[in-house]
Amino acid sequence: MIEIWSKYKRAILANCVLSSVEANKGVNYWRNSLFATTLIFILPLCFIALIPSLFLSTFENKEYITLLHFITIGLMCFIAFVPSVKTATRKLIFSLTVYAFAITLNIFTSPSSGSVLVYFLAACVYSIIIFDNKYAYWWSHLVLFISIFFGFAIAFDLIDFSHNVDMSSVNEWIAVSSNLIFLCYLSSALIPKIFKGIENYISEQQQLKTELEASKKALQVKNEELEHYAYVASHDLQEPLRMVTSFMHKLSSNYGDQLDEKGKKYITFAENGAVRMKQIVLDLLDFSRVNRPSDKLERVDLDALLSNYLELREGTIAAASAKINWTDMPTIWTIKPLITTVFHNLLDNGLKYRKKDTAPSIDISAREQKDYWEFAISDNGIGIESQFYDKIFKLFQRLHNSNEYEGTGVGLSIAKRSVEFMGGQIGLHSLVGVGSTFYFTIPKKINERQD
Ligand code: ADP
Repeated sequence: MIEIWSKYKRAILANCVLSSVEANKGVNYWRNSLFATTLIFILPLCFIALIPSLFLSTFENKEYITLLHFITIGLMCFIAFVPSVKTATRKLIFSLTVYAFAITLNIFTSPSSGSVLVYFLAACVYSIIIFDNKYAYWWSHLVLFISIFFGFAIAFDLIDFSHNVDMSSVNEWIAVSSNLIFLCYLSSALIPKIFKGIENYISEQQQLKTELEASKKALQVKNEELEHYAYVASHDLQEPLRMVTSFMHKLSSNYGDQLDEKGKKYITFAENGAVRMKQIVLDLLDFSRVNRPSDKLERVDLDALLSNYLELREGTIAAASAKINWTDMPTIWTIKPLITTVFHNLLDNGLKYRKKDTAPSIDISAREQKDYWEFAISDNGIGIESQFYDKIFKLFQRLHNSNEYEGTGVGLSIAKRSVEFMGGQIGLHSLVGVGSTFYFTIPKKINERQD
C-alpha cells in the first residue's frame, strides 16, 4: 500500500515539478510543489466525494451532480498523470475547474450564501499563489466578471434558481459579492508582494552561494598550489643543502690548517647557517605534509604517547630538571601522526620557553565533552603577550631570535594545521612571566561515541 502511494506521489511530482525547469528551487519551484501536493491529496478526496454524489443522484434524482463529478475526476486525472503537458497548462485547467465548481455550487445553492463566496475567494487566492505574479489580477477580474454575470442572471431570471430554498435578491447579491470582489482584489495586490520579497531573498541567497562556492574553489586551488610548492621546494632544497654542508666540511678538514682564525669562523657560520636551513626545510616539509596524512583513524592511547615522549626527550628533561605531569589521559580515535605532532610541538615549546632560573613544570589534562575532547597543556614559562596570540600560529612567525631561543617558527603552525585537519580548534591563554596554557579540541569520531 505504501509502495503504491509513493509511486503515485512520484508520478505526480515528476509531471508537475520535475518536468518544469525550476531546478534551482526558486519561487516557481515551490509554487509547482504546492500545486503538485494539492493534486496528490485532492484526487483521493474526489473519489471519496463520489459516495455522497451517487447518493444524491440515486435518491434525489440529481444525476447531473454525478455527471459533473465524473468530469471533474477525469480532468484531475488528466492534469495529474498525462505526461508532456506543460505545468502551466495543468495549473490553468485546475484553477478553471475550481472556478467552474464554484459557479455550479452558486447555481445550485443560494447565490449569496457564505460558503459559496468563501469557495470563490479560496479559488482566487489559491490561483494567485500558484501562478506567476503577473497574472495576479486576472483571477480577481474573473471573479468580478462572474459576479456581474450572476447579478444579471438574478435580475433578469436568466438562470432557473427555482430549486433553491432561499433565493437571493439582486440587492443581496450586490452587497455580498462586492465584499467578495474587494477581498479578491486585496489578495491580488498583497500576495505578489510577499512572493516578490521571497523571490528577492532567494536570488540574493543564490548569488551569495554561487560567489561563495567560486571563491572557495579558487581558495582551494591556491592552497593546493601553495602546498605543492612548499612540498617541492622543501624537498628539492635538501640536495643542494647537503652539498653545501658536505663541501664546507671538506673545506674545514682539508684546508683548515691553511686558514686563519677569521676564515675558520666564517666556515663555522656557514655550517651553522646550513644546519639551520636544513631544519627550516625539514619543518616546511612536515608542514606541507599535514594535509595529506596517509594514515587512517585509529585508537591512540595518549598515556602511552606521553610516556613515549618522556623517553624520547629524556636528556632534555633531565638537563632542565623538568617535570611533566598528567593523570588519566584517554584513548581516543584519531590520526596518530597528527596528534603526536601536536603534543610534541606544544610540549617542546613548554620545555624550551622556560624562565632562566626556574625548572620547567608542565601539566597536561584532558576533559571529555559530549562531542569532543578538550586538552590543555600548561607551562610555567616566560608567557606570551595577548597581542601575539594570533601571530604565533602563523608560519615562520617568532617572538624571539635564534640566539635567545632556537627555532624556526613552524611548530605552532604545524600544530594548528594538524588540529584543524582533525576538525578541532586550538588557542591559548597566557600571562607574561607566569606561564602559558595551550588548549586544543579533537572531535569525537562516530566509533568513539559508540565505544
Ligand atoms: P619556534 O618554537 O620554532 O619558534 P613555534 O611556532 O613553535 O616556533 O612558536 C612560535 C613562537 O611562539 C615562538 O617563537 C615563541 O616566541 C612563542 N611560543 C610558543 N610556545 C610558547 C610557550 N609555551 N611559551 C612562550 N612562548 C611560546
